[in-house]
Parts: sequence; structure tokens; C-alpha cells
Amino acid sequence: MQQIGHFLNGAPSEGTSGRSTDVYNPATGEIQAQVALATKDEMDAAIAAAAEAQKGWGATNPQRRARVMMKFGALINENMDKLAELVSREHGKTLPDAKGDVQRGLEVVEVCMGAPHLLKGEYTDNGGPGIDLYSMRQPLGVVAGITPFNFPAMIPLWKMAPALVCGNAMILKPSERCPSTAMFLAELLKEAGLPDGVLQIVNGDKEAVDAILDNDTIAAVGFVGSTPIAQYIYGRAATNGKRAQCFGGAKNHMIIMPDADMDKAADALVGAGYGAAGERCMAISVAVPVGAETADRLIDKLVPRIEKLKVGPYTAGADVDYGPVITAASKTRIENLIQSGVDQGADLLIDGRGFELQGYENGFFCGPSLFDNVSPDMEIYKQEIFGPVLTQVRTDNYEDALNLIIDNDYGNGTAIYTADGDTARDFCHRVNVGMVGVNFPIPVPLSYHTFGGWKKSAFGDLNQYGPDAFRFYTKTKTVTSRWYSGIKEGGEFNFKAMD
Ligand code: NAD
Repeated sequence: MQQIGHFLNGAPSEGTSGRSTDVYNPATGEIQAQVALATKDEMDAAIAAAAEAQKGWGATNPQRRARVMMKFGALINENMDKLAELVSREHGKTLPDAKGDVQRGLEVVEVCMGAPHLLKGEYTDNGGPGIDLYSMRQPLGVVAGITPFNFPAMIPLWKMAPALVCGNAMILKPSERCPSTAMFLAELLKEAGLPDGVLQIVNGDKEAVDAILDNDTIAAVGFVGSTPIAQYIYGRAATNGKRAQCFGGAKNHMIIMPDADMDKAADALVGAGYGAAGERCMAISVAVPVGAETADRLIDKLVPRIEKLKVGPYTAGADVDYGPVITAASKTRIENLIQSGVDQGADLLIDGRGFELQGYENGFFCGPSLFDNVSPDMEIYKQEIFGPVLTQVRTDNYEDALNLIIDNDYGNGTAIYTADGDTARDFCHRVNVGMVGVNFPIPVPLSYHTFGGWKKSAFGDLNQYGPDAFRFYTKTKTVTSRWYSGIKEGGEFNFKAMD
């Protein structure tokens, strides 16, 4: 049995807690590794070592730090196949999808290669008589990243690349369900020239997370995961005086207007609803057609497409559209939610429960499910299913469709399919969601923009990656300076405007 420890002070390190948890191969249901779960003492020691290592790293000039990112980016490219395999083995997603996971993280590393430019401060010449002002961006010290299972490469990269290039040390606590990718990324960063101890991977569960939140040395916490945990971490981190940005769950809707290209809308819904087994925070899980005729036409287009979907292990190659869900418990939860939808009166048009694959009978596979006539009071609407289940909520007009989204607790992503620019423009302007697609189903912004939801999809301030990440991982210091050419005036006692 493979034992996964931590990555500390530049080398793999065995855990000493005596506690560990199983890491499954979701396609076969087999336990393929055990990952150590750190104690508070182990976490505190990792943080103390990171604080020492940060001193030299923070003093290294930004261009040299950026060169580590350049080498890191090259190494990620060289090791793309291995990284994708690590993602797929523990998560279950297909290899092309796993490469997308790595690629979208790599793109953030690429932006970090331009860190010197993003770390520049501002300067005001002659803000008052003989007075100049300038600001600088300085690292926070030791920061922490706590990441979910569903993007084992991308989200750790979103956290570590900006935090490190800004001159911080980082404690990364990956998901205990998919820890291996982050461990390998730490090895690549070492090879790229990152000094030992500047990135510490500490595996663990709640005990390790709470140790991060209560440690005075940690200056900031970046979290991605489910909403209840995001809210908990945000509250405890903020109470302890830390910066926190905590990204949570989602329930993403797509409006389909009567004038939409129905084939394109159906293709988009199938990809965004069932890709990665629906385990994406930007998955579309609610289709909202406007008008009964649009709803009927959409169902006619969706059903044959969904019936053709191929579900299987990543090892089956290009033939597979999506893989298993992450755990047996997750499969049971999804199937129970499907039953609740039936009990509460929704029409289950395609039932993916009880799906079995020959040779993979113990894998955590869910067939695709499709519900029509779902209403907002049903559990399948209220909860984030995080599985291959698409629900359709019928609406009579555009205003009702828009208000459904506005009234929803979550606000991560949304989309509209229409041929009318005015409707699309109105939607973009009025909808209270952080990332919006127009005839585009999963509007994950490119790495030089920023990523973040609204409402219960995010707690705290500033988005992930792009310019916001450079604000989150640095503190601004502003200097007002005057050089006397002689003592021109006496002491000043009033709070004076600079005239
Ligand atoms: P999760 O909340 O269960 O776990 C996320 C992290 O929190 C893990 O590292 C885990 O070890 C830790 N954790 C879990 N329970 C904890 C507790 N009680 N106390 C302290 N730490 C705890 O999330 P998950 O199941 O790994 O990921 C799926 C969720 O993440 C979905 O809700 C999805 O929408 C969300 N997600 C959001 C985004 C986004 O950017 N908004 C991106 C990806 C995933």
C-alpha cells in the first residue's frame, strides 16, 4: 500500500501522527494509498519552518522569483502526461479533462511569470511642496491554501503560484481525497529553484485546518470547497485576524431563450452538466428555458444526446465522456437526492441510478440523470448535487427566469443562450452572479482576469488569480517623504492639506 506523507523543507516526509485516511481509485473502488493526517503540532512545526524560509525568499528580487515560475511552467509542460495521470487516478476524470485541469492551473503560473510588473507600486511626484509619495507591495509572510478534491492540479496552482511569486511562504493543505498531484507539484517547484521550506505541503483533515486557522504566524487563508466549510473557515480566520478569501459551492443556471440556437444550447448543457461527472463548481446544473415550447424543444434535443453519453474509467481512453464520482458516499448521496426529486414530484426523464460497468462493478459510477418540471422548493433544486444530474425549471418569461437566478442563494456562474444582443446585455447587467457566459456555458475567466462568485459562493474580498491575487497576497505600504534642503518652517500641529 502506497503511503503518502507530507512535503516539508524540500523533501517528502512521513507523518508522525499515526492517523491516516484511505485514498481510493474511484473507477475500481479500491484503496490505492493512505495519506497521513497531520496533528496540530506537525502543522505548527511546518509553519515555523516556512516562516524561517520566507525571510530569504521575501527578500529575493521579484524577477528572480518570477524566473522560478518560468522554470516551473516549463516543468509542468514537460510533465503534463504524468500530472494528468495523477489527477485521473485519484479523481477519476478523463485524461483530456485532467489535462485541462493542469492547463488552467499552468495559465496562472504563466501570468505569475510577469510578477515584477504586477508588484510595482505607485508614485506621486510633488504631492505637496517638496513631498513625494510612493507605495510598495510587500509579502504578507506565511499564507495558507486549503483546496478541494475536484481540481487537484488547477486549484493548488491558483493558490501557490501567486502566493509564492509575491514573496510569501505557503502552507498548502490539499484535499485528502486527491493529495498526490500537489505533492508532485511541490517536487517540480523544488526542481525549478524554489528554496526549501517556502512551500510546505501538509496533508490532513479538520485538525490540520483548525491548526492553520489558530496559528498566529499565518497571515492569510485562501480556501476553496463547499459553502458550509467556506463560511466556517472565513469566520474563524477573520476572528483570528487573518485575511481570508473562501470560495464555496454553486448552483449554476443557464437561461435558454426561444430564439437560441437549440442544438448549440443542448450541446453546451450536456458538456457543462455532465462533464467531470458534474463535479465542477462551474457545472451547469439548472436549465431554465423560457416558454413551454422552448422547454419541449430543448428536452427533444437533450434526451438523445444524454442517452449517447459514455461513462467509464479514464483508462478506457478517448471513448469516455466522464468518469466516476469521488466516493461511494458521494454516489449514495446523489442517488438519494434523485429519489427525493421523484418523491417531490419532478419528472425523472432519464434515470442514471444503479449504473454498473462490467469489470468495474465496485467503481463509483453514476449514469446521467435528467429531470424536467423541477420547482424551487425541491431538494434537487435547493442543494448542490455535485453529480451528473441536470434539472430543468420551466419559466414563462425572461423576467421570471432572471428572478429565479437572482433569488438563488449561490452566485458562482451563469449563462444565457440567445440570438438577441439586447437580452444578453440586460442579463449581464442585472444578474447577481460573479461569472457570466453569453452563448458560453462555463465562463471560467482567463488567468489574467479574475475568478470569483457572489452570494454564498464566496466569502471575503478579492477574487482568485489575476491582478486580485497580487492584491490579496501583498500588503500595500505607502511612504510620504520629504527631504529638507534646510529647516524651512517650524513644527506643524494641524492636520494639514498638502497645498
Ligand atoms: P470540502 O468543503 O469538503 O473540502 C474542501 C477542503 O476543506 C478540503 O481540503 C478538506 O480537507 C477541508 N475540510 C473539509 N471539511 C472540513 C471541516 N469540517 N473543517 C475544516 N476543513 C475541512 O469540499 P470538496 O468536497 O473537497 O469540494 C467540492 C466543493 O468545492 C463543491 O461544493 C464545489 O462547488 C466547491 N468548489 C468551489 C470552487 C469555487 O471556486 N467556488 C471551485 C471548486 C470547488
